[in-house]
Amino acid sequence: MYWIMLDEVVRKHALKNAFDYGKAQPGSVIAKVVAELPDCKADMKSTMAVVVKGVAEVNALSRAQVESEVSGYSFPEKKQRDWLPELEWALGGAEVNTRIAPNPSGYAHMGHAKQAILGDEYARKYGGKFWLRFEDTDPRTKKPVPEFYELILEDLEWLGCKIYKVVKQSERLLIYYDYCERLMRAGKAYVCTCAKEEMQKNRLEARACACRGQSSSHALLEWKKMLDGAYAEGGAVVRIKTEVDHPNSSIRDWVMLRIVDEAHPVTGKKYRVWPLYNFAAAIDDHEMDITLVTRGKEHELNAIKQGYAYAAFGWTQPHSIETGVLKIRGGLEHKSDIRDAIARGELSGWDDPRAPTLRGMKARGIDPRAIRDYIISCGVGKNDSYLDEAKLDSFNRKYVERERNAVV
Ligand SMILES: [Zn+2]
Repeated sequence: MYWIMLDEVVRKHALKNAFDYGKAQPGSVIAKVVAELPDCKADMKSTMAVVVKGVAEVNALSRAQVESEVSGYSFPEKKQRDWLPELEWALGGAEVNTRIAPNPSGYAHMGHAKQAILGDEYARKYGGKFWLRFEDTDPRTKKPVPEFYELILEDLEWLGCKIYKVVKQSERLLIYYDYCERLMRAGKAYVCTCAKEEMQKNRLEARACACRGQSSSHALLEWKKMLDGAYAEGGAVVRIKTEVDHPNSSIRDWVMLRIVDEAHPVTGKKYRVWPLYNFAAAIDDHEMDITLVTRGKEHELNAIKQGYAYAAFGWTQPHSIETGVLKIRGGLEHKSDIRDAIARGELSGWDDPRAPTLRGMKARGIDPRAIRDYIISCGVGKNDSYLDEAKLDSFNRKYVERERNAVV
C-alpha cells in the first residue's frame, strides 16, 4: 500500500528539507521517506525516481510557497538530548551532576556556551543538577568584577540553562581552610617557606625541600602563622605531597593555597590566604557531588593535579569529558582577545553583533536555541573546530521563521 502514500510523503519531506536548507536534496529526502515508509526499500530504484521528481517540483517553488505549504504539515521535534553520546557509567541510574565554573571578569562567550550547554544537557538528560560556580579566588591576576556575577547568570539564563544553584568560591574560604588542615593533620600537605627560586630549583631537580619532612603539628603551626599574617605575600605557600619526581615537573607538590595581599571585590580584606584553582575545584566538585566535568582539553593537566587531592582524601574523582576548543575566526575565542579587540576599536563593545559573546549573538538576532542546537550537533570530540557561522545561521533560520509564521 505504501505507493499510494509515497507521493505525499516525498512532498512533505522535500518541503521540510527546502524549508530548512533553502533547496531540497534527494539524498536527505530519501532517508526520511524510507524511515517513514520502510516498505519503500523493496524497490529503491522506483522510490528514488519519485523522490527526484518530488524534489525537483519543490525546488521550483518560491520561498513563500514553500513556507506556506510546509506549515500545513506537522513534524515531530527532533530530541536534541539524544544527539549527545550516552554516558555508559550513568545508564545504571547514577546521578549526573555537572557545573560551569566561569571567572566573573567578562561576559559569557561561545566557549562558555559550549561547556554550559554540555553540562546543562547532560544534567537534564539524566535528571541531575547543573551548578553555576564562580571561580573567583584570585584577587589579583584574575580579579573578579562585581557586576559580572549577575551578568554571566543573565547570559546563561538567556541561553536556556536550568541552573540548580549559584555559588561563589570567595564565600567558601573557611571550607577550603578546613580541608587544608585535614590534609596537614594526615601528613599529606605542608607549609613551604622556601624562596620562590629555591622552590623552582628543587622542583626541576626533583628534590624535596626541608619543609616537606616536618611533622604535621609543625605544618599546622606554620599554617596558623600564614593565616595570622606572620608571613608576607610569597613568604609561605601550602603544597600537597605528590611524587617529588613526577615526570611532569609542574605536578611535583603543586601549590594548594598562597597569600595574596589584595582586597577582594566580594570579601574585601577579610582573607589573605587564597586557594589555587585545582584545590578549590577538587573540594567543590566533591562537596557539590559533581559526577561529570566537561572541560576544554587544554585543562587535562589540571585533572591530573586534582587527582592527587582526590586520592589524598580518599574520594572518587568525577568522570570527565575533555573537548576540543571552539575556535573563532579572527582569533577571538578568549575573553582577553575580545577585550583587546574592543580596546583597539575593532568591536564597539561586548554586545557588538560581530563579537562571539552571547550578547553579540543576541544583537545579531541569533536565537539561543540555535546556539544549543549548534553546540550539540558538534558533539564532544577532542578536535578543535571553528565556529561555522553558516551552520549556526541555518539552525537559527528555523526558529526565526517559525516565529515569523506564528506572528502571521
Ligand atoms: Zn620548602
